[in-house]
Amino acid sequence: MTAGTLTVMGLGPGASTMRTPEVEAALATATDLVGYGPYLDRVAPRAGLYRHASDNRVELDRARHALRLAAAGAHVAVVSGGDAGVFAMASAVFEAVEHGDPSWRALDIRVLPGISAMFAVAARIGAPLGHDFCAISLSDNLKPWGVIQQRLAAAAQAGFVIALYNPLSRARPWQLGAALDLLRQHLPGSVPVVFATAVTRPEERIVLQPLAQADAALADMRTLVMVGSAATRVLERPGGLPAWVYSPRGMAGS
Ligand code: SAH
Repeated sequence: MTAGTLTVMGLGPGASTMRTPEVEAALATATDLVGYGPYLDRVAPRAGLYRHASDNRVELDRARHALRLAAAGAHVAVVSGGDAGVFAMASAVFEAVEHGDPSWRALDIRVLPGISAMFAVAARIGAPLGHDFCAISLSDNLKPWGVIQQRLAAAAQAGFVIALYNPLSRARPWQLGAALDLLRQHLPGSVPVVFATAVTRPEERIVLQPLAQADAALADMRTLVMVGSAATRVLERPGGLPAWVYSPRGMAGS
């Protein structure tokens, strides 16, 4: 039996041009494709590539399935959207290894980076992540809401630009509104908030609002919400051109 491999890879935010050549090469040699259905749909079918679709909520089961296939000699590609290490499958794979069959630790496991949604969004609107920033998932499926509240308040007080992933879903309709209310207690109302939906895909939509008026109804589960810091600037442009949003490289007084 030949030794199997398991490669965890990020497919980027949507457009195929945002997938790295390294990821393309790994997909071209894989025998088995494992991931959440909509991500698998982004990979063109080909002879010799077997697809294992699964639900989004069963990451650990999916990781164990991928590890068993690799242990049996397959060349497994585990795919995530964006970057596989940001709120995605790479951690699930290592968690499964830590608690699973000890022989899995000897497997050839590689993680290939991808363009995370926050980078695609930032590039679309200017340079909001040019100074200190953080990313917070608003999903309380995997952590208590109280922890999310603490982290939001601490991040706002620390002056970070905040990239909010998983802002809401049908099962979590109120979290983004509550998060914006909390942030309004700690940040000036003029701070820019960007609602960026389905970036790099045909249905892309980007809306900029000041925090005071930021409306959670602009988001769905394909949206990344980027909340500026007090230092983040909005550059208005003439003729209806979309404004640029950027965070200066230095702080006043530095
Ligand atoms: N690993 C992914 C994130 C997975 S969590 C990454 O690095 O981007 C899923 C969340 O990512 C979504 O709820 C949304 O907040 C964000 N997201 C993913 N693709 C996006 C896109 N094309 N445009 C805007 N947000 C996106």
